[in-house]
Amino acid sequence: MFDKLSISSKTENILKKSLDEPITVEEANHLMNIKGNELYPLLATADFLRNKIVGDNVTFINNCNINFTNICTVRCGFCAFGRDADDPDAYILNDEQILAKAEGAVANGAREFTLMGGVLPDADIDYYEHLLTLLKDSHPDVAIHGFSPTMIRDACLVSGMDVAEGFERLKDAGLDTLPGTAAEILTDRSREIICPEKVSVAEWVDIIKTAQEVGIQGSATIMYGHVETLEERVEHIDIIRQIQQDTGGFTEFIPMTFMHEYSPIFLEGQSNLGATGTQDLKLYAVSRLMLRELIPNIQVSWVKMGFRFAQVVLAAGANDLGGTLGGDELSEASGAPDGVEASIETLSRMVRDLGRNPVERNSKYTEFYKID
Ligand code: SF4
Repeated sequence: MFDKLSISSKTENILKKSLDEPITVEEANHLMNIKGNELYPLLATADFLRNKIVGDNVTFINNCNINFTNICTVRCGFCAFGRDADDPDAYILNDEQILAKAEGAVANGAREFTLMGGVLPDADIDYYEHLLTLLKDSHPDVAIHGFSPTMIRDACLVSGMDVAEGFERLKDAGLDTLPGTAAEILTDRSREIICPEKVSVAEWVDIIKTAQEVGIQGSATIMYGHVETLEERVEHIDIIRQIQQDTGGFTEFIPMTFMHEYSPIFLEGQSNLGATGTQDLKLYAVSRLMLRELIPNIQVSWVKMGFRFAQVVLAAGANDLGGTLGGDELSEASGAPDGVEASIETLSRMVRDLGRNPVERNSKYTEFYKID
């Protein structure tokens, strides 16, 4: 393939090597900077590897986001969702509201509740334990994918316990997996600009590893396209790769492109306009070449990219479409281009049009359900 294309010998050698082994950080940095004719061979290589590693199934989960509060003490510079407690549109859902949302989702076949929201002041482990018990008592067969490392850190501090004990309590109450949020970009330089109140890189790694030691698996994420450099994107993926080599606790990797329009840092003039389309494609393709079988599932965030571009990204190394979502107020506040809810039929149509097979899955990618 490569001899028919005018690409540099360096790019050609890296792509050929990637067919058999993971690429290095230096090689990934080279690929993040390619332009022009070199893009298509990269995408084709990532798509080839995707097919070799996970085949032609494109998975997604029937799930429902339950954003239990928008009150947040952290107030990240990229987030248009968080509110102060005394803001007029601040809210905390009560038990009845949470159960009503859950019941509606279960009536639509949901297999997972995604429990996300702001970081409440003074919320302790009892509070998060209560949310889990509330849902598990009513819907024991629905998995709960929830909470961020920053929430857990703060709740453990309020409760006067270490993070391992906090995770033990949450696991016993029904927490199945962690969404891997608060990772954003795992370099302290960028975090100091976009989320200085969040967990540091070292804290994020430590909290995620502790959860995995306790037996709570989860997603790894990256949020890119704001103030970070291309090298920092690669540095982040390499940190995820190293954790996975140690623990094997990540179920999937989810690149999330930055939605700039309503973010405080953009409105204050500190940010760029987000990643371009080819930067999105390169991020996914390079992720596949770096992570390979180690994290076989690479998820496209359709809610951030829109359905059309998400479908294109599925041809650049990705194999999972996330979920039906049933709402996602964080993305909605950021201007989700195609809404925050998708039907099984909508996602299946995108997949079938690519010549691939739509398959429903559970949270941990251990059970799969055929779609007629
Ligand atoms: S991203 Fe999360 S932690 Fe940051 S301000 Fe928004 S809700 Fe709070």
